Amino acid sequence: MVNSSSCGSAPAPASGLRAGPAGGLAPPVVRFAPSPTGFLHIGGARTALFNYLFARRHGGTYLLRIEDTDRARSSQAAIDAILESLAWLDLMPDQPPVFQSTRSARHAEVAAALLEAGHAYRCWMQPEEIEAERARLRASGRGQRLESPWRDRSDGPADRPFVVRLKAPRTGETVVDDRVQGRIVFPNAELDDFVLLRSDGTPTYMLAVVVDDHDMGVTHVIRGDDHLSNTPRQLALLRALGWPEPVHAHVPMIHGPDGAKLSKRHGALGVEAYREMGFLPEALENYLLRLGWAHGDTELVAREEAIALFSLEGIGRSPARFDMKKLESVNRHYLLRADNRRLADLVLPRLAAIADQQNAARHQELLLRSMDELKARAKDLNALAQSAAFLVRARPLDMDAAAQRALDEGLGLLATMRDRLALLDPWSREALERVAREVAESAGAGLGQVAAPLRAALTGQAASPSVFGILEVLGRDESLGRIDDALASKVNGHGKV
Ligand code: GLU
Repeated sequence: MVNSSSCGSAPAPASGLRAGPAGGLAPPVVRFAPSPTGFLHIGGARTALFNYLFARRHGGTYLLRIEDTDRARSSQAAIDAILESLAWLDLMPDQPPVFQSTRSARHAEVAAALLEAGHAYRCWMQPEEIEAERARLRASGRGQRLESPWRDRSDGPADRPFVVRLKAPRTGETVVDDRVQGRIVFPNAELDDFVLLRSDGTPTYMLAVVVDDHDMGVTHVIRGDDHLSNTPRQLALLRALGWPEPVHAHVPMIHGPDGAKLSKRHGALGVEAYREMGFLPEALENYLLRLGWAHGDTELVAREEAIALFSLEGIGRSPARFDMKKLESVNRHYLLRADNRRLADLVLPRLAAIADQQNAARHQELLLRSMDELKARAKDLNALAQSAAFLVRARPLDMDAAAQRALDEGLGLLATMRDRLALLDPWSREALERVAREVAESAGAGLGQVAAPLRAALTGQAASPSVFGILEVLGRDESLGRIDDALASKVNGHGKV
């Protein structure tokens, strides 16, 4: 398993795909490898998306590895949150996730093989010694590389704990030929003999990631550029093992509108927060795709097209800035095109707190009928729910103050409209508008004066989509019922009519 000499991989063809056994191109294997220490960050979601698209573009496999080796910081809640967000984004892996914590015996086995082959050594330096050595290095100004006295000795004290370190190369250089960042040269003089196994025998991230990527057959590592500096170390480890090197693509971080790396102070970071804000998953996906990847200046790229167009070469080298306004406009685009029944299903739970549960089926029906009108005006599902609230509220509707005023001012016109509407046939938008005009004209009023109390009676609010559209979707019975409720409230409340 372990080669005694270093061995680089053959140069990859231009696409970054490896030659397969039969001389054709082997389908790539990629992975998304989140650490479950919190929600799924939108940067992580974008990494998952890029991996997914790359795999689909080339007929490959997209895997998920949950990097839960840090037991103190990992939690089941975080694992659930990550899986839920991936499911919501329709980015679930092609195979069940690999949990890194289940693989520690394999990690230890690889470390033992490296020891055996002389590529790793036991280091008995104690934390205080390491600290003192680091302080000495700092004071001497001779760089930061820690040199263990145990690199070429194995006669350490049997009763003291030790860690296992890689015997990293000290001369020459390590070149990372990154698909996004280009060719980056790291002098090996800067490589330290990093720890593979801690003194309690647990593997470090650096060992686990290399072993797992290899065992999972990963051919392309597409991840955030916060891991770029780990890459020469991982390559040193791979070379010691004589394992093939994957292609690397390090994607720049997402920055906030102020140009600083996206952080909590910029607001929401987790995918689930965007879900709650009422964004559609396909809109967030399209937005995240364009945030860091481009194909000309096409903004709207839905999944199928993204699969056809995606390439690592399209990923930009500099960090992109998160722009909420742009996300909202992408969301509007997808809302307009979304299936009405799906939107109704998404909006109804957001209305559960105010909805009249007795009439759920009827409300669903009303919501569906009004959806074209409602979705044309909404920027997200919450705004959509807000504008749809009047459809599902229990009757008699609560009136807001502005609606009360409109009603008080237009009670007579509303009563006249009620009588005309009762006789109207057909109940069509044109006929409704015609009647309203006639009523306005004969009262010497404007159309707005007729519409205002009508809107108040039908919605409980003073602002809404077109009142004729509302009459049309509510239908005759529901419209007259609501108007009667409003008139009755005034009779009972003020004895005016
Ligand atoms: N678990 C690492 C993280 O969440 C990613 C490791 C990798 O992609 O190689 O940052």
